[in-house]
Amino acid sequence: MSTKERKVALMGFRSVGKSSLTIQFVDNQFVDSYDPTIENTFQKAIRINGQDYNLELKDTAGQDEYSILPQSYFMNIDGYVLVYSVNSFKSFEVVKIIYEKLLDMKGSINRVPVVLVGNKSDLTLEREVQYEDGKKLASSWNVPFLETSAKENQSVAEIFSMVMMAILRAEGSEQKKGGC
Ligand code: GDP
Ligand code: MG
Repeated sequence: MSTKERKVALMGFRSVGKSSLTIQFVDNQFVDSYDPTIENTFQKAIRINGQDYNLELKDTAGQDEYSILPQSYFMNIDGYVLVYSVNSFKSFEVVKIIYEKLLDMKGSINRVPVVLVGNKSDLTLEREVQYEDGKKLASSWNVPFLETSAKENQSVAEIFSMVMMAILRAEGSEQKKGGC
């Protein structure tokens, strides 16, 4: 079977670990200091239900509550990983604002595949956002939720299989609609 391509953007407040998650997934290593201003695209082969996909990951430079999201974050992106870090309440607030902005841009977010990620779960003593808070927010959006640690490679690969599954589900329901 031929390889298909899907594109995913990682978004969230600065320093939540977007690049660390991406590099842990793509290169299997934890980079302690990665230039926070770099906006890079990574590729990784991923197999879902026996089909190979080339996953293109857009590691954005990060957003805050005032960011105006550029068109390039909407064009040609199949799914989104929205990241906060569990040791930053601020990043949790910012991820809600980013989601609202996505909603505005995309019209009906129901069909936009999103996974919510609470990263840095290893920082137990510094925790400001409880697991339940993340879980509740994701439920209110009706999207999957994961706590991860890029540092300890905890649940990192799951992020990307979850977002792929969400993309494929959305495409499936899209097709069904078209077929009616
Ligand atoms: P980005 O700005 O969202 O891309 O964040 P980075 O990936 O550059 O990470 C910001 C800082 O947080 C860096 O110092 C990382 O080493 C650190 N970091 C990222 N992920 C984790 C994690 O899971 N646990 C811990 N303890 N630190 C992390
Ligand atoms: Mg980064």
